[in-house]
Amino acid sequence: MKKYAEMSKQELEDEIVQLKAQYKKFQEMDLNLNMARGKPCREQLDLSMGLMDALNSEADLSCEDGTDCRNYGVLTGIDEAKVLIGAMMENKPENIIIYGNSSLNVMYDTVSRAYTHGIMGNTPWCKLDKVKFLCPVPGYDRHFAITEYFGIEMINVDMTPEGPDMDKVEELVSSDESIKGIWCVPKYSNPQGYSYSDDTVRRFARLKPAAKDFRIFWDNAYGIHHLYDNNQDYLIEILEECKKAGNPDLVYKFASTSKITFPGSGIAALATSLNNLDDIKAQLTNQTIGHDKVNQLRHVRFFGDINGMKAHMRKHAEIIRPKFEAVLEILDRDLTPCGIGDWTKPNGGYFISFDAPEGCAKAIVDRAKKAGVTMTNAGATYPYKKDPHDSNIRIAPTYPSLPDLRTAMDIFTVCVRLTAATKMLA
Ligand code: PLP
Repeated sequence: MKKYAEMSKQELEDEIVQLKAQYKKFQEMDLNLNMARGKPCREQLDLSMGLMDALNSEADLSCEDGTDCRNYGVLTGIDEAKVLIGAMMENKPENIIIYGNSSLNVMYDTVSRAYTHGIMGNTPWCKLDKVKFLCPVPGYDRHFAITEYFGIEMINVDMTPEGPDMDKVEELVSSDESIKGIWCVPKYSNPQGYSYSDDTVRRFARLKPAAKDFRIFWDNAYGIHHLYDNNQDYLIEILEECKKAGNPDLVYKFASTSKITFPGSGIAALATSLNNLDDIKAQLTNQTIGHDKVNQLRHVRFFGDINGMKAHMRKHAEIIRPKFEAVLEILDRDLTPCGIGDWTKPNGGYFISFDAPEGCAKAIVDRAKKAGVTMTNAGATYPYKKDPHDSNIRIAPTYPSLPDLRTAMDIFTVCVRLTAATKMLA
């Protein structure tokens, strides 16, 4: 097989005829496959059914300090859950608030609080003419949806395999007081699966923002979500680095057990400085008397400690690793010989990021859809859903069965080749 860039017009035309025939065959199969959803599959959810047995009607629902979990109270979460989640997040229990089931909900609340009431006595964002956020791209669509909802202007910053372009981040954050935050997925990023280098984390901790109420929104959603035992990414702990750099209040760190136990019924948490915690608690006390402590206790009893959680994550990896490897194998088999497309090879997380030749992503996703394969919408990985290169497509391998995934990828690569070859001829 020749690379497309080296093919003559006639060779490209022949290739297109052959690909169209393959595409037609796929269409005739009348499939309905979905590779858009970053959701655990059923077998992964089954791993956590022990949560249902961890507590029953005979169970003692008291915490170690005697608190009855069935009743009101304990605004920031029970101590033993803070110890467990603290170990997961690599933070001290005293720096943590345990919330309900969704970290995205906590992120929304954090932006909302800054918007209506301001951070630590600073002007509420709603009273400012302009509020901006930096958005490493490609990134997580639901982050961008939150800031878009609040009318916050989003500025793209390119991602690299080491993390966001820090020259750009430093330049913008230090010179523009209206920049109030940045969205970060520092480990096994959504969608690339990149992890920030030590240097990137240190540069974040040493930022000198023009805005006193600038905060890093550090969404460590995939902190312990490794695919391999012997090939794991490592991330420096940001709160500690910020403290060392004399910037203790610079970061809000988020995490949850959504992709550890049940996305619908896990526990979420925020870790930050004691100053930030006081600021948050002053609002939180008006919002709730306390979150679901029975679920917090259930998680503690189910895992025991962080070692139980890590052992559990190895079981997840056994289920999803073959799926990631199948996607990579098929991309390599079908696209490397043609010299089209680039893709990431993550050591963990939930996604593989695919970059099609410029101007092809939308057409590829449309073509796949017409052959029964739903991909994440092209553009979704950018603020305002606008990919300036029309190139990035997020691949989510976890949810479909392995045979379905392989079929979906066979179709996807035909769509990529057909779209790229057609564009080259145009
Ligand atoms: N953050 C990132 C980076 C994600 O990819 C996801 C889900 O895909 C979430 C947060 C959602 O977290 P939660 O279920 O805790 O709201």
